[in-house]
Amino acid sequence: MDKLLPKLQQLTQNLWWTWKPEVRTIFRDLDLDLYTKAHQNPMSVLKQITPDQLEQRAADVDVPARVDRALRQLHEYCTPITTWGITHAGAMRSRPIAYFCMEFGIHESLPIYSGGLGILAGDHLKSASDLGIPLVGVGLLYHEGYTSQVLNKDLWQQDVVEPFDIADLPLVPAVDRHGEPVTVSVELPGRTVYAAVLEVMVGRIRLILLDTRVKANEPQDVALTARLYGGDQRMRIQQELLLGVGGARALRALGINASVFHLNEGHSAFALLERARYRIQFDGMDPHKALAEVASTSVFTTHTPVDAGHDRFPADLAAEHLGPLAAGLGLSLDEVMGLGRVNPHDHGAPFMPTVLALKLTRRANGVSALHGVVSRKMWNHLYPGTKEEAVPIGHVTNGVHLPTWLATEMNHLYESHLGPNYQSSLTRPDTWTPIMSVSSSEIWETKQVLKARTIRFIRKRAAAMRERLGLPAIEPAPLDPDALLIGFARRFVPYKRPDLLFTDLDRLDRLVNNPTRPVNLVFSGRAHPADQTGKGLIQKVAQLLEDPRFRHRILFIENYNIRVGRMLYQGIDGWLNNPQRPLEACGTSGMKVVLNGGLHISVRDGWWAEAYDGENGFAIGSGEIHADQATQDQRDAEDLFRLLEEEVVPLYYDDRNAAGMPLGWVERMKHSIRTLGWRFNADRMLQDYVNHLYLPAAIGSSCQMPPP
Ligand SMILES: *Cc1c(COP(=O)(O)O)cnc(C)c1O
Repeated sequence: MDKLLPKLQQLTQNLWWTWKPEVRTIFRDLDLDLYTKAHQNPMSVLKQITPDQLEQRAADVDVPARVDRALRQLHEYCTPITTWGITHAGAMRSRPIAYFCMEFGIHESLPIYSGGLGILAGDHLKSASDLGIPLVGVGLLYHEGYTSQVLNKDLWQQDVVEPFDIADLPLVPAVDRHGEPVTVSVELPGRTVYAAVLEVMVGRIRLILLDTRVKANEPQDVALTARLYGGDQRMRIQQELLLGVGGARALRALGINASVFHLNEGHSAFALLERARYRIQFDGMDPHKALAEVASTSVFTTHTPVDAGHDRFPADLAAEHLGPLAAGLGLSLDEVMGLGRVNPHDHGAPFMPTVLALKLTRRANGVSALHGVVSRKMWNHLYPGTKEEAVPIGHVTNGVHLPTWLATEMNHLYESHLGPNYQSSLTRPDTWTPIMSVSSSEIWETKQVLKARTIRFIRKRAAAMRERLGLPAIEPAPLDPDALLIGFARRFVPYKRPDLLFTDLDRLDRLVNNPTRPVNLVFSGRAHPADQTGKGLIQKVAQLLEDPRFRHRILFIENYNIRVGRMLYQGIDGWLNNPQRPLEACGTSGMKVVLNGGLHISVRDGWWAEAYDGENGFAIGSGEIHADQATQDQRDAEDLFRLLEEEVVPLYYDDRNAAGMPLGWVERMKHSIRTLGWRFNADRMLQDYVNHLYLPAAIGSSCQMPPP
């Protein structure tokens, strides 16, 4: 028994456990209450559990045998004989890809993410790990984490900083080849900022995180990595310099000679300048040649067609910060400023990291086919004389890391029908074909198990919020399990239109309270802490739900995060996505739903524009865009109601067999899994990045990625 604790501790040292349900449950079984309170963080559980309790529970739930098995699996995972990456990306083994991102969403216990971008980055690392692709993540460690959402009595979002203890995370100092911890420095106006370099293992992948809590720093600089997206423009540009310049320096200090820099979003664009500076100052390269080399070996992924989603630093602020980089590059400040401007000679114009990234990478991509088209149009003016279709921005459609988002029960179903090793060939269409011959009752019953669990979770969360707000409990319990359950959870911003269904309350009332074909809805989502409009949307939706007509049928649950997301994706029947086309660059939550046997109900935007085949879910509207937004909203609301009333609800309730199973609905579930499972997973995304972007960039060839 005394060897058990060190073994358990060893298991927590690699975030591999985050996508191994059978390992997560070891910690849950030790103490469910502790586990839940500690944001499902196994290190906190081990720290708080008493030796007696550990001994008792370990014997009760067979922990020693399970731990030995998990440790052996982890060891095997980390020392593979062969992987997809060794076969297809072996050339990069000694020189990995450096993947920069401002946020990484790996697990709810490591709160260094806010939403979609971070979760995508987390999934990227996990699939790179599974496939054995040589890649290193580079980011910042926000030591105060991100905020949690709590609604107050006015149903207005409060952003609460939840204390979390870095000691409860498997972060260790990253060391150089002499075994010494590494610190990097970055020049900021009038001072030098230092950052400790920490690392955490995500399976086979190292994630390097910079942390400014070092003695040499002034308090204002310690605050630089306190919070994600927490400050003003000045703090933001300094965070971006730290990530880009500091991140590139950290790689070098650790002896990691990256073959390719991949900038996931423009926040890390300064890394490109630092990369060139090094070639100039230490290898004596000509500045223009160095910039050209950096461009041919770097990849940039842009993530949004929403104009306000791209940073714009006022010219003065940028000029104040870019002096040291310009000097190191042997360029004038004016020349460097010009790299971040559409027109380099437009001296008053703000500095845009996205523009810098587009100018200094030969390979750029959007995150869905439609977003590729939209991005080429959006940035056409950066390439004067180039036709829109020839703008060098391609696309790699996002995907999701299946083991992270898949319910255990669904995984068992896949293992028994697609084969025990189906996860190692996720991207092959024929892997998924056998789903069509699974008995409909098996897949339906599996879904009912997930749905019951999700409804319990939603009720509990919603009831806890009502109690805290002093609102009367809803009696009888809302959301009857036999009704169609539709979910909507995402960031609350106007273009995602969380209130689209609330534009006609009488019609919504008729829809949800139909006596024979009722519909239940669950909403969740946060607004950025500084976004008053988004908070207003949350308030509007949450207040409408207090209407006696909706109280039993529609719930809002607080604090949408990885955990809440996972619970919703796994148990709902239909997933609603109604953004203003074409502003949703990709969207990934619907993919997580599809893998768990839910159906996507979506505007033909982002990934759905290329995924929908007429039978693998539902499409709202035809994809046409009206010039007037109000007209478009009205039309989409009409299309949405009609779709729900005439297609979604009837498919769910009609054509039921003797056992009460909706035959058409289940057929559609299967068709959805078969046609979408192989394409919209993160293994496919990583393979696309390797084949179309990383390998060509590693070779440094100047050929441009052909538009799709
Ligand atoms: C998947 C996910 C997202 C991104 O989903 P979208 O469809 O892009 O909105 C955001 N937040 C959480 C918690 C997620 O799991």
